[in-house]
Amino acid sequence: MRDSITIVGASLAGLRAAETLRRDGFEGRISLIGDEPHQPYDRPPLSKQVLAGDWDPERAVLTPAEKLEPLGLDLRLGVRATGLDVAARSLEVDGVPEPFDGLLIATGARCRTLPGTAHLAGVHTLRTLDDCLAIRSALDAGADRMVVIGAGFIGAEVASVARGRGVSVTLVEALPAPFERVLGEQMGAVVADVHVANGVDLRCGVGVSSVEGEPGDMTVTLADGTGIDADLVVVGIGVVPNTDWLEGSGLTIDDGVACDPTCLAAPHVVAAGDVARWTNPRTGESMRVEHWDNAVEQGRHAVRRLLIPDEEAEAFAPVPWFWSDQYDRKIQLAGRPHPDDDVQVVDGSTDEHRFVAFYGRQGRFTAVLAMNRPRHVMQGRGLLEQGTGWDEALAVAAEWG
Ligand code: FAD
Ligand code: NAP
Repeated sequence: MRDSITIVGASLAGLRAAETLRRDGFEGRISLIGDEPHQPYDRPPLSKQVLAGDWDPERAVLTPAEKLEPLGLDLRLGVRATGLDVAARSLEVDGVPEPFDGLLIATGARCRTLPGTAHLAGVHTLRTLDDCLAIRSALDAGADRMVVIGAGFIGAEVASVARGRGVSVTLVEALPAPFERVLGEQMGAVVADVHVANGVDLRCGVGVSSVEGEPGDMTVTLADGTGIDADLVVVGIGVVPNTDWLEGSGLTIDDGVACDPTCLAAPHVVAAGDVARWTNPRTGESMRVEHWDNAVEQGRHAVRRLLIPDEEAEAFAPVPWFWSDQYDRKIQLAGRPHPDDDVQVVDGSTDEHRFVAFYGRQGRFTAVLAMNRPRHVMQGRGLLEQGTGWDEALAVAAEWG
């Protein structure tokens, strides 16, 4: 039995893991170490309700103080893990070594930045509460022309909120359609249509060659030479896992912390959430999942892994799932589609932006995508969990009527 657990990353995966330990009856010391100064908060509202101005930032707190205090955590905020020596079981915190008994790495990811824009005050990324409040302040101050670079999750959700605030938005994406790498060409085109229907000036299939100017007077020049004027620019071009501090630790870093299927990265060390890479035995795919549900579930699985003998350890084998709110549409996806999977709309209509689509390849049912159809996406997720084949899944959907 371990005396103590140390968790690096005081956010979603880390906090939910700490809560799980206490709920399971773990009475030892739990240290939760995070480099952000704020009480642990949830990120999804940052590109939705908080950015829209509908929620005060305090509402995004993950666990209110009255529920956090009774857990008796050794919560250290504004403090950074700066190094790790796995063999010596030593963690370095702000340069000072301290021993650990069991360690969960949940340091998440940070935004990729657009080269050549670091010095520009009018160029924003969105990962943290402070990032969100900076964009919100610019909008509150009257910015009403926004260029969004990258039509992934951040780009699509920020564009949606900005349009809701009456801002004119140009959304630039290098691929032929938004989300094409995640959803494929056909469904990427449906998402494109949703943005255009909501008044976004969508420019796909073109890169950005430069960004210049001051807040309120920016110019984004596209690779085809077109110049777009803006008051502010938001860049959403993906993330990099926070593993720099693990250099020389003895762990394997491979676009994330490499773990075995049970989330173990080394003896006494596990990882979870956006930072963790593991092979999901459900599909045999090596994956790193950058979504909310995975951070919660993997945080719980990984921290429990620290407390059980190797011979009893189970693999972490979820059907990954996410949602995204864009305008009045709730987009949900369960499973892992491949861009060239077969796609069949099994319910509703893509023209009406209200539908369910199934993805499949080689007789396997791989994913379910839905727009404003929450019940069916959960039913589809259930079928995926049962390992239902393609023909059988289509037969079940045919009964939905
Ligand atoms: P993080 O939330 O990144 O937390 C890691 C923490 O560790 C951070 O506080 C970081 O500062 C800290 N840290 C890093 N390095 C160190 C260090 N060396 N020492 C100490 N602390 C460190 N997913 C969905 O499914 N649906 C959504 O609608 C959705 N919306 C989102 C909106 C936004 C704006 C963002 C940014 C993400 C959204 N996501 C959504 C994704 C989801 O929020 C993430 O997958 C989730 O936050 C990952 O949790 P995590 O705990 O692994 O990492
Ligand atoms: P993302 O979803 O990975 O999308 C990034 C997009 O930017 C991709 O379409 C990418 O295209 C494109 N891109 C990459 N480099 C580019 C460049 N130089 N110029 C123009 N476009 C470029 O990442 P994100 O939208 O930045 O989101 C960041 C993180 O937050 C992710 O982990 C995401 O999962 C999370 N998040 C999730 C949600 C949700 O689940 N609802 C909401 C918000 C944020 P390529 O594919 O070609 O690289």
